[in-house]
Amino acid sequence: MKPRLLYALLPRRCAFCGKPTPADTPVCGACQSALPRIEGVRCPKCGRGSGHCVCRAAARYYDGLAAPYYYEGVVRRGMHRFKFRHAPGNAAVYAQAMAAAVRDCYAGQAFDLIVPVPMTETARRERGYDQTRLLADALSDALGIPCAPALVKCYETFKQHGLNAWMRKGNLAGVFDVPDRAAVNGRRVLLADDVSTSGETLNECAKMLWLCGAASVHCVALALTKYQRNND
Ligand SMILES: [Zn+2]
Ligand SMILES: [Zn+2]
Repeated sequence: MKPRLLYALLPRRCAFCGKPTPADTPVCGACQSALPRIEGVRCPKCGRGSGHCVCRAAARYYDGLAAPYYYEGVVRRGMHRFKFRHAPGNAAVYAQAMAAAVRDCYAGQAFDLIVPVPMTETARRERGYDQTRLLADALSDALGIPCAPALVKCYETFKQHGLNAWMRKGNLAGVFDVPDRAAVNGRRVLLADDVSTSGETLNECAKMLWLCGAASVHCVALALTKYQRNND
């Protein structure tokens, strides 16, 4: 999508709290100053700032994880509106922040494809839209990198909500598949998700991409939870 068209689609309400804002202001002043930004030195593997690293000994199949925000405060409320109250116009605003995190964390790294972490058909039908897909499409516009939403498929058994970290890990084994391996082979992939909690979902997706010969897999999310035990 061209920038002008993208701009025309920007909401006239704050992308985080939903309050009306002037036409040129996608985020209100109160939210702007309250954004839980991830700044300064970050862990290259889990994307969190010092003191919040959640890395453990477990193998990671991705080369990095970048995100602009922690999943708390106005970002948490904004994501909730985005996911459950159907505010898909906010994707463009959120994608700008994700694009900035990608440029910041992966300076010098080139990407061939953006791949959204897939959701199941059932989940998509229930919600009416796929919020990660919306973010990935908007990120594609912001970065000028093609989005390849069908590269990774998700089986119907994939239901993470309400599971703890250990159950999530077990639940994830083998739920993702890459039907067209040639489309992945040798490609530098930017794997996009909305919120990353334990990193297991990204890791399982990255593993499939890596097994299919991806040259690199870097991850980006809009927000990261600060603590491993948070199960949202
Ligand atoms: Zn606001
Ligand atoms: Zn870390």
